[in-house]
Amino acid sequence: MTEFKIAVIPGDGIGVEVMAEALKVLSVLEEHEQDFVLHKENFEWSSDYYLEHGRMMPEDGLVTLQSYDAILFGAIGDARVPDDVTIWELIMPIRKQFQQYVNFRPVKSLPGITSPLSNGDDIDFVIFRENAEGEYSNSGGRMFETQHSEMAIQNTIMTTAGIERIVKAACEYAEKNGKKKVTSATKSNAIIHSMKLWDEHVKRIIKNEYPNLALESIYIDALVAYFVQRPQSFEVVVASNLFGDILSDLGSGIVGGLGLSPSANINPEKQFPSMFEPVHGSAPDIAGKEIANPIAQIWSAALMLDHLGRADLSAKIINAIESVLLEGKIKTADIGGNATTEQMGAAISDKIIEQYAIKEDEESKIWT
Ligand code: ATP
Repeated sequence: MTEFKIAVIPGDGIGVEVMAEALKVLSVLEEHEQDFVLHKENFEWSSDYYLEHGRMMPEDGLVTLQSYDAILFGAIGDARVPDDVTIWELIMPIRKQFQQYVNFRPVKSLPGITSPLSNGDDIDFVIFRENAEGEYSNSGGRMFETQHSEMAIQNTIMTTAGIERIVKAACEYAEKNGKKKVTSATKSNAIIHSMKLWDEHVKRIIKNEYPNLALESIYIDALVAYFVQRPQSFEVVVASNLFGDILSDLGSGIVGGLGLSPSANINPEKQFPSMFEPVHGSAPDIAGKEIANPIAQIWSAALMLDHLGRADLSAKIINAIESVLLEGKIKTADIGGNATTEQMGAAISDKIIEQYAIKEDEESKIWT
């Protein structure tokens, strides 16, 4: 019996709508598997919670979350609450305190989805974004506010240990998955302290510890152009927090949009729970209209199952997503259709049920 405790945080806007579909998909797996139970607990930590309690989560929120095996997160963001509050009081503390230093984002062509760059070749790479330090730090401050002499300092924190662990995670993934090349995003020609440290460690680690991997180190401005011009050439991209954040939205854009892009915030040592969330945010413009695409959220749940050691169930979800897209009958507005969020979720659940029916049919043929 595999049992897992899952903390569910739907958040704001479409986060709530797409999460409902991901939970239904997980329930379908639970119903059909003999040995698989998810103890899911819902946490309504959101902008509404903030407006009522003056904070995004309770004071002991992280202590509560720590006892879970994983966190399934929707999206956060609401016009009534400043973005830096929603981000720095909920997502950032989880990522940083739980040492989720790997942000893993697959960028993959999907059947039935035409890339805006389409030239026929499949795109299939992953981005390893450093997720616990770098440019997204709360080190710095402002002085002389409201005066013309006002100044702001925002520090980037890069450490040898922080760079080493993200680069090693990317290289380990590359070796395990038969990849030949790692691409490093840099800007050491202009950001001469932190990015030089990044470059030195990337070069040293790959040369000394992963001699079978080729290293391609590219300045970020050129790299964004190459994402558009030759996306098929990438296998594993490793980047700092800021560069990885921007590259992964671009990555999702070139394979069909934010509605299709999952992500995982991983603590590889499994000392703390990891967190799985779509790349997209709360999308206030379409929230409440029931038209959001739930695929990114459902795929994030698949990444969660993979991390928990149930790659078999993760594959069932991904197969179901691919079958629905290949069939092309059910499509939400972002990918050129008019299906609702619920219809897309139901279509994916149905494809999972079909996989079990096929399996049962095959098993019964063996016995008869
Ligand atoms: P936030 O401030 O929470 O990040 P946002 O609207 O600025 O929200 P995103 O939510 O990431 O940014 O998305 C940008 C746009 O992409 C949305 O406004 C929406 O139109 C579209 N979009 C994002 N996610 C989806 C989805 N799951 N299905 C359909 N369209 C989506």
